[in-house]
Amino acid sequence: MLERYSLPEMKRLWSPEHRFQKWLELEVLACEAWADLGRIPPEAVREIRERARFDVGRIAEIEAVTRHDVIAFVSCVAENVGDAGKYLHLGLTSYDIVDTALSLLMRDALDIILQAVDGLRLLLADQARQYQDLPMVGRTHGVHAEPISLGLKFALWHAEMGRARERLEQARRMIGVGRLSGAVGTYAHLDPYVENYVCRRVGLIPAKVSTQVLQRDRHADYLAALAVTAGSLEKFATEIRHLQRTEVLEAEEGFAAGQKGSSAMPHKRNPITCERISGLARVLRGNGVAAMENISLWHERDITHSSVERIIIPDSTTLLHYMIVQFTEVLRQLQIYPEHMKQNLARTHGLIFSQRLLLALVAKGLSREEAYALVQRQAHRNWPDGDFLAALKADPAIGQYLPADEIDALCDARHYLDRMDYIFWRAGLGPAPVQYWESMIEVVAAGQGHAQAVAKGELLYEGKAKQMYLTSNPDLVWVSYKDEATAFDGLKKDTISGKGALNNRMAAHFFTLLKAAGIPTHFVRLLSPNEMLVKRVEIIPLEVIVRNIAAGSLSKRLGIEEGQALLQPAVEFCYKNDDLHDPLVTEDQIIALGWADATRLQALRSQALDINEVLRSYLDTKNLILVDFKLEFGTHKGMLILADEISPDTCRFWDRETHEKLDKDRFRRDLGGLIPAYEEVWRRISGE
Ligand code: ADP
Ligand code: MG
Repeated sequence: MLERYSLPEMKRLWSPEHRFQKWLELEVLACEAWADLGRIPPEAVREIRERARFDVGRIAEIEAVTRHDVIAFVSCVAENVGDAGKYLHLGLTSYDIVDTALSLLMRDALDIILQAVDGLRLLLADQARQYQDLPMVGRTHGVHAEPISLGLKFALWHAEMGRARERLEQARRMIGVGRLSGAVGTYAHLDPYVENYVCRRVGLIPAKVSTQVLQRDRHADYLAALAVTAGSLEKFATEIRHLQRTEVLEAEEGFAAGQKGSSAMPHKRNPITCERISGLARVLRGNGVAAMENISLWHERDITHSSVERIIIPDSTTLLHYMIVQFTEVLRQLQIYPEHMKQNLARTHGLIFSQRLLLALVAKGLSREEAYALVQRQAHRNWPDGDFLAALKADPAIGQYLPADEIDALCDARHYLDRMDYIFWRAGLGPAPVQYWESMIEVVAAGQGHAQAVAKGELLYEGKAKQMYLTSNPDLVWVSYKDEATAFDGLKKDTISGKGALNNRMAAHFFTLLKAAGIPTHFVRLLSPNEMLVKRVEIIPLEVIVRNIAAGSLSKRLGIEEGQALLQPAVEFCYKNDDLHDPLVTEDQIIALGWADATRLQALRSQALDINEVLRSYLDTKNLILVDFKLEFGTHKGMLILADEISPDTCRFWDRETHEKLDKDRFRRDLGGLIPAYEEVWRRISGE
């Protein structure tokens, strides 16, 4: 690797000394394993441990004769060890050591890269938040489209680097294997114990099947992950290069004191670091292709891959690390020119607002075709040199619908940033946009008005809290909330007048909130004070519980004081079965028993956490703490959706100041005042 593009950590990692050090570590561990098996005397191993060392110069001398690097290495170490040296490399083939060491080095290289990725993501998150509301023009095909914010670009990159992280971690798992399986992978002269012993001590997993080598699909996968990450960096760098073009000049790479841009033109400030990053990404892509060529080795191996790997693996890891560190610095020093962004937004005299104007005309009663034609006529007449907005205001065909002051009010880039908080929340960069949902609740609720009539049919199921009826529509069920309260799997029972209606109303409210936040639920509409219409689902027999604060069974089971905040929300799964008292089940058991596959389980978990985020942040604005809650999910036409109910029967709500319990614990623990507590929750969330 060129000195110019190496940073010290990677240089050290790929140095010959460090590689030999790994070889030595593995050779000594193999001797220890043999000693366990009684094949090497313990004193000999002790001697090897104490004396084993190498000298890079001496290895080179021996290699000049043997033309084999591992033989040269072993001979050099044996010279230093003395008599016990005869036990070194017992039963091993060169690649038992070389390949296993390569995996170790590749894994460690990824750790260095992952650390750099994390640094870049932290900075991107900061920059995204800082420029969340800084308007600039968005461009498609290089042509002005509609306003965006600079923070949105950074948020996009932040999410992309999150995917890079996942990809690199996957590559780390793929390469986290070793092999000491002999000349053709049969352990003919080796005990598998040696492989297990050595691999486990260095944190690798023995490959399930190998030949003389680990299979090169692993290495190809790794280099592909590096190349894709480099491709993303190239995209970011290219964006900055575009923004730095003189005609655009919305951002610019930092220019150090004393730096010179051109030997001939004293005025030049060029985006040279971004250009370097763009260029190096091409090398990584090329190396990715070379790694794919390496997959197809002959029979139990040939050595065509070796020369290639000596170049591409150190080069690609070193370059990617360098690129990430350099790009992080570019971003840190980036000059931003908000004034130029503003000028560029105004450059087309309002053309970028054409869609908003078109929609305003449609809202005034024009057909979409008429409105489109009116706006396009003025847009084309005034391109490239006219004043679109002035012409629009002077056009009587438009003026009769949109007066000039309305046109001015519509043409404001800030309107386009209204949903930034929503996107930032989704991207994990900002708080939940509660205001946005509150206004959406009204919209969603209004949309439930004109529904088809559905007739109530036979009782399908009667549970502890609800009755479920069939309806004239096979896709829908009619739910009737009961006044009954039960606890401890039905052991304790009572009728509490008014509870059914409160729960029905609150469940409808929460389901509507979730819908507004983009989370699918079974709720269709309210039917009466204590009834609602829902989509019929195939219930997954699991209770999905999310906890923010220790309480109830968690406190009891683990002896943790009720009220202790958890460091992060914790999801748990119970098998829904009253007779067995809804026992806890592990994720492996759920998969093994076929209740959900790994993908579905992951979806359940992430939906439950999303729901927690929406409910928790929403209730916080109502001075309520969401302690924990239970969800049930089902499938409807193949889609996973939230079913059952969300109410003080299935959640723990505490008052934020007093920690007073406002949920079913009042019944479970004989605290009294259940209805006033439920009414208080309703009063707070409904604002009534
Ligand atoms: P339980 O006593 O089992 O808790 P409930 O009184 O809560 O029962 O009644 C609801 C029952 O209907 C639960 O068994 C629940 O799993 C099921 N259920 C909830 N929503 C739906 C739905 N959309 N479609 C079909 N079944 C549902
Ligand atoms: Mg229930």
